[in-house]
Amino acid sequence: TLSDRLTASLKNLRGKGRLSEADIDATAREIRIALLEADVALPVVKQFVAAVKERARGAEVSGALNPAQQVVKIVHEELVTILGGETRRVRMAKQPPTVIMLAGLQGAGKTTLAAKLALWFKEQGNSPLLVAADLQRPNAVNQLQVNGERAGVKVWAPEPGNGVGDPVAVARGGVEEARRTLHDVVIVDTAGRLGVDADLMQQAADIRDAVDPDEVLFVVDAMIGQDAVNTAQAFLDGVGFDGVVLTKLDGDARGGAALSIRSITGRPIMFASAGEKLTDFDTFHPDRMASRILDMGDVLTLIEQAEKAFDAEQAAKAAAKLTGQGGEFTLDDFLEQMLQLRKMGSLTKIMGMLPGMGQFRDQLANFDEREIDRVQAIIRSMTPAERNDPKMIDGSRRARIARGSGVHVSEVNNLVERFFEARKMMKSLAGGGGIPGMPGIPG
Ligand code: GDP
Ligand code: MG
Repeated sequence: TLSDRLTASLKNLRGKGRLSEADIDATAREIRIALLEADVALPVVKQFVAAVKERARGAEVSGALNPAQQVVKIVHEELVTILGGETRRVRMAKQPPTVIMLAGLQGAGKTTLAAKLALWFKEQGNSPLLVAADLQRPNAVNQLQVNGERAGVKVWAPEPGNGVGDPVAVARGGVEEARRTLHDVVIVDTAGRLGVDADLMQQAADIRDAVDPDEVLFVVDAMIGQDAVNTAQAFLDGVGFDGVVLTKLDGDARGGAALSIRSITGRPIMFASAGEKLTDFDTFHPDRMASRILDMGDVLTLIEQAEKAFDAEQAAKAAAKLTGQGGEFTLDDFLEQMLQLRKMGSLTKIMGMLPGMGQFRDQLANFDEREIDRVQAIIRSMTPAERNDPKMIDGSRRARIARGSGVHVSEVNNLVERFFEARKMMKSLAGGGGIPGMPGIPG
């Protein structure tokens, strides 16, 4: 999957202080293959990879993120962009009712969606009316009636007197009915054929002209992959539409259709459907879809947390000390780094959000946050001189510090030993950089 491939290629970047041209090329190649395998349209793949490459090349080595994380961030941001950026809301008519027309191939999920959308509007306090203007399929009207009943929404169906057999008349009649009976939203379900054909397009265009919709939504099955793009283009030319609804996302996690459609048609994806139940439906959020495609948990949350918690200035100070430019690494620095860690929230939780960090997650699973409290108490019981030059902490000083911080003297011994060990280890790591992926936090 896209996620596996990305994680694998990003693993090679980890621990690198700077990305070389070759690193970027290799990663770009992986991303390209992954996108093509996910059925993303070729022009979109090219555009995407070019954008990522360009930005990766220009990426500054920022305080909080290492190069691998920066590439993850860039890929995530470009995914969000290609998916449309912001969520686009339904444009409500100034003068109700707001008319929404659904178009798409047979089996795309229009009739199901009509009821989902109606329920969604109802839950927001609107009073929707469903209009059954698919007179093509024998059971279509009944299907909408059954779904409408489940959603608790009225359905306008063709009956003698309101245009039996003429979908355009039924649709027009539905909108008039809504006006009369004060429904503020009208959702018009239409017929779809199995393939794109001229008759279907003409009928949809006629319905559009008759009801003058505020939004025409193109409903497309995400599982049809590459075909989604061709179908979308045909509907764009034949009927025109304002927004897209992706259905059956429960069956396709690859996201190929989602990534292609927005950039090919220039129309936003507005809603997503992921199941047969009426509640398996939501407004479409580009950022959530991007995270889902990357399958890395909430990447943005991670990055925000890291950026907030991490004080680049302090890191620079610590790094200077490690390389011998800012004096010896002291117990104060040691404590400061531990407190930085805690600021980032539960360590194990953060590790869980990082792609490819499983190995460290295990290692850190028994990291005890209360340990930080004890360390803090002990170090605060030391004099500034002791913190600056821990070598002077002899037996009697250790006993005094233990009394002052309310711990056993063995815990003080333990801490001092660990500090010297950490300092030694960090010196050997200096320049190489601690736990990869956890900037400024020495391993
Ligand atoms: P229409 O021909 O465009 O009106 O499509 P339908 O609404 O009749 O849906 C066709 C089939 O797809 C039905 O069996 C639906 O239950 C199913 N379906 C619709 N939306 C979804 C979805 O989001 N996920 C899944 N798994 N099935 C769906
Ligand atoms: Mg239908």
